[in-house]
Amino acid sequence: MSLIVRQTGSALTGVRRGTEENIHDAVGPPDTFRSMDLDQTLTRRMHDLYTGLHANPELSMQEHQTAELITSRLEAIGAETFRCAGTGVVGILRNGEDPVVGFRADTDGLPVAEDTGLEYASTARGELPDGTEVPVMHACGHDTHVTAALTAAELLSAQQGTWAGTIVFIFQPGEETAAGAKAMVDEGLWDRAPRPEIIYGQHVMPQPAGTVRVSRGTAMAMADSWKVTVYGSGGHGSQPQDTTDPIVLAAHMVVRIQTIVSREVDPRDSAVVTIGSFHSGLKENIIPATAEFTLNVRSFDQQVRDDVLGALRRIISAEAAASGAPEPDIAEISTFPRCYNDPDSADALLTALRGELGEENVEESRPLMGSEDFGALAEAIGVPSVYWFFGGHPPEMFDAGSQVPSNHSPQFAPVMEPTLTNGVRAAATAILSRLGT
Ligand code: ZN
Ligand code: ZN
Repeated sequence: MSLIVRQTGSALTGVRRGTEENIHDAVGPPDTFRSMDLDQTLTRRMHDLYTGLHANPELSMQEHQTAELITSRLEAIGAETFRCAGTGVVGILRNGEDPVVGFRADTDGLPVAEDTGLEYASTARGELPDGTEVPVMHACGHDTHVTAALTAAELLSAQQGTWAGTIVFIFQPGEETAAGAKAMVDEGLWDRAPRPEIIYGQHVMPQPAGTVRVSRGTAMAMADSWKVTVYGSGGHGSQPQDTTDPIVLAAHMVVRIQTIVSREVDPRDSAVVTIGSFHSGLKENIIPATAEFTLNVRSFDQQVRDDVLGALRRIISAEAAASGAPEPDIAEISTFPRCYNDPDSADALLTALRGELGEENVEESRPLMGSEDFGALAEAIGVPSVYWFFGGHPPEMFDAGSQVPSNHSPQFAPVMEPTLTNGVRAAATAILSRLGT
């Protein structure tokens, strides 16, 4: 894989073209650099790692080459490693025993056809669990997470005089399907790894590169996805009296479901219910036998979540009864736990990050309605966790009127710098805030 850098300009701008010769000009430390020095060798290794990962994404729970690469990089710095949940990798870096701190990076790509125009764009293909062949892209930026975590591990292993304790790096597969964190916990992650007193994690976001945003308390929403199958009885379109029309029935469910947030949830709380697909029937004069729809619920509060899910079950069941139809079938597609930042730990982290990255680059933020399974790792052992967002796009892209492609977009293209350096510094700062000597 080739090193790709920008011909001219500062490290703050896009990284698209160039040659090896100008790397030294292009990848110098950003202006805000304060204490954590990534030398040019480490920076070059980091960029190489990133472009390699970006060009070779793998689908959720199939991150085989990624896991092998992570394992070999961890072993090269003397970390103990083990595999967990198939493609999950745990790396333990010891420099004394206690305290123990956890740091998690997710590793999976998405079924998206990359359209970024980057020289290191992915042309990879993969196979979904149902056998469908799809293009694969690191459209959520998890390649930046792996790169930052591995580089932080390399940086800290080379600077053992600055810290004491144990770092548990968790390279988690399958975040996009909500399968990975649960699978690692179920397969004995915490029976095999030292138990940390806190777990940190981060996500790249469309916000100015070089910045970090941390919320106190809830960081991201819980999410629940269901597939609902509604049973009617089919027949000729001219004889509805001999059928139970599942389209009419399911349509009433859809409309009534939209009253949950507006009429049942306390206006001071937040929730979202989206019905993202609805399928039934094949022809205009046939009343079908079934209808299917999928829905997605987001909430910040456990009681609100329970109330919304309860209301969904009540409405789905009661609408079927109102039509004289059998009980519909509800299948859970996925469930994401709440991502909650322990407020005291978030405060301490905000202070540490402001010291390292500069006041102007660190912001306290509101929770996002997006979801993450990160919280499940700490919840399993009852320890606090903090999850933050780091920027991946040039500040000028956020000028009024510009549209910055979001995570999961085929055009999602974080710039390498200062995104990666910032991700490494944020990760190492969080770890050193607990283990620094
Ligand atoms: Zn994602
Ligand atoms: Zn993601």
